[in-house]
Amino acid sequence: MTEQTPQPSAFTLFDLHSHTTASDGYLTPEQLVLRAVEMRVGVLAITDHDTTDGLAAAARAIELQQLPLILIDGVEISTLWEHHEIHIVGLRVDKSHPALTSLLAQQTEFRHQRAEEIARRLEKAHIAGALEGARRLADGGALTRGHFARFLVQAGVADNMAQVFKNFLAKGKTGYVPAQWCTIEQAIDVIHQSGGQAVLAHPGRYDLSAKWLKRLMIWFKAQGGDAMEVAQCQQAPNERSQLAKYAADYQLLGSQGSDFHQPCSWIELGRKLWLPGGVEPVWRDWILPARSQ
Ligand code: AMP
Ligand code: MN
Ligand code: MN
Ligand code: MN
Repeated sequence: MTEQTPQPSAFTLFDLHSHTTASDGYLTPEQLVLRAVEMRVGVLAITDHDTTDGLAAAARAIELQQLPLILIDGVEISTLWEHHEIHIVGLRVDKSHPALTSLLAQQTEFRHQRAEEIARRLEKAHIAGALEGARRLADGGALTRGHFARFLVQAGVADNMAQVFKNFLAKGKTGYVPAQWCTIEQAIDVIHQSGGQAVLAHPGRYDLSAKWLKRLMIWFKAQGGDAMEVAQCQQAPNERSQLAKYAADYQLLGSQGSDFHQPCSWIELGRKLWLPGGVEPVWRDWILPARSQ
């Protein structure tokens, strides 16, 4: 008799939003998958900003160590909608699909141009060396505002990341450069072409009024969007139930993810991730490979 490898069950913990050093996460893909297993996550999506570069190393680490973890190939694409930067997560994408690789190359090019412009603006504000500093921290990964923020904290310009964003990198501040991301339609289209599902990331974090948030969800759905994130670990209880209601109202599947970037006391892989009753999980129709035990 052949030994059966257990399939994910109703008790399997899904975390479908996380970052590695391929973008602005602090853990390497190898470190991230180990931590996910420690946190009892059974299905993990790595969703770095505009890159899929961390996925291969993560898959290799799982395979080599026979970790009891299923990896979902993901990406978090930055888009521009009505002057708002909206993040669209792609789940189960084919990372080698030309439509995806070409869109991500375009986004990467913009990240380089934007980084140079951010550094020029900071230079005018008498903060030198930001481009080199941010590049050093990114270490070949996608260059994000997160790297600039870390550099600015290290340079002693601000006490913490939140303060840097507030004072330097947020819209209207010295180091803010207007975004030139792709559109929501383009992101959804490319995710679909590469075989994935498009998920509206962290809808509660865009500082949108209820009216504008509804507009966004209607637009996202009308463009073929599949799901929205309903559960994150840092959320007021009423936010989760409100998002669950929106998911039902706009006929979107529900997703859940920590958006883990680094070990810290308030965000953890797999923590508090569950969907309220009535929400159809984004993984509803997934047939997952068996995992090691
Ligand atoms: P980018 O995609 O390059 O514009 O960078 C956005 C990233 O910066 C987000 O994914 C967060 O990781 C980080 N970020 C944005 N706002 C804040 C904030 N207020 N505090 C800390 N990190 C932030
Ligand atoms: Mn980030
Ligand atoms: Mn995001
Ligand atoms: Mn994210």
